[in-house]
Amino acid sequence: MLTKTDAFVTRFAPSPTGRLHKGHAFSALLANARARSEGGRFLLRIEDIDTTRCRDEFVAGIFEDLAWLGLEWETPVRRQSEHFADYQAALETLRTEGLAYPCFCTRKDIEAEIAKSASAPHGPDGPIYPGICRGLNTAERGRKIAEGTPHAWRLDLAAALAHIGAPLAWQDEIRGTVQATPEELGDVVLARKDTPTSYHLSVVVDDALQGVTHIIRGEDLWHATHIHVVLQRLLGLPKPAYHHHGLLLDENGQRFAKRNRSVTLEILRAGGTDPQALKRHLLSQAAIQHLPRNPAGL
Ligand code: GLU
Repeated sequence: MLTKTDAFVTRFAPSPTGRLHKGHAFSALLANARARSEGGRFLLRIEDIDTTRCRDEFVAGIFEDLAWLGLEWETPVRRQSEHFADYQAALETLRTEGLAYPCFCTRKDIEAEIAKSASAPHGPDGPIYPGICRGLNTAERGRKIAEGTPHAWRLDLAAALAHIGAPLAWQDEIRGTVQATPEELGDVVLARKDTPTSYHLSVVVDDALQGVTHIIRGEDLWHATHIHVVLQRLLGLPKPAYHHHGLLLDENGQRFAKRNRSVTLEILRAGGTDPQALKRHLLSQAAIQHLPRNPAGL
């Protein structure tokens, strides 16, 4: 039987590629406050699959900054770089079902293919992968792999949707029932050439493994959810509820960015900012976020 705590599990899942800024603090506080009000659990997950960009000092910085904000989280903290085998197993399931294919394209190959067609489909993240390697036959794939050609693995979205056979939707706390339109992202990468997984695959696997019931994250990840619900269905994982919050903007109406050091929590702390006052300010912004929003344009 579910205890009350396990009925509401949420998480904050930063990537340690820089110091946290106010936008991260906003997201973490929102998730944490919600877990508290629901009597639920709050997890912290370190999304460090990109071992070239992620650094231990930034992991330490995440712990330091969140503790300064007065947050508490469960331990041990899951670090994705320690769980590549879990993502490989999920990829293997998709491969076995014929829903993933190796992609040998370089960035240049993809750009050249897209340039050939005036009507190449574009999604929110730019041009959609034009499917160059989708049509390779088993022998060609086997030969290239045997030759050691570097390759990523992509989701065969058309095959995946045919396999599922029914439209997909998710429950969004702000926008209600949302019909998934994963075609906007197309054949996303499931495992990169340099990393045996991808953001999409590892986040879906981890949310399920960690029993996350409510995903509270910024609307910059809205489009990703369209693919995540597909992966959840293909892998037989539970469907969490979603809450995509609006992004906190600076006084110029711009999103906070890791490259802008002046808004990092580290610098605010060094400058004598009172964490309680910052927390109150950020949570007051969150109250505004609960107003119904118009999804047009997302
Ligand atoms: N690691 C992602 C990021 O830092 C967030 C992932 C998520 O919340 O699903 O943007």
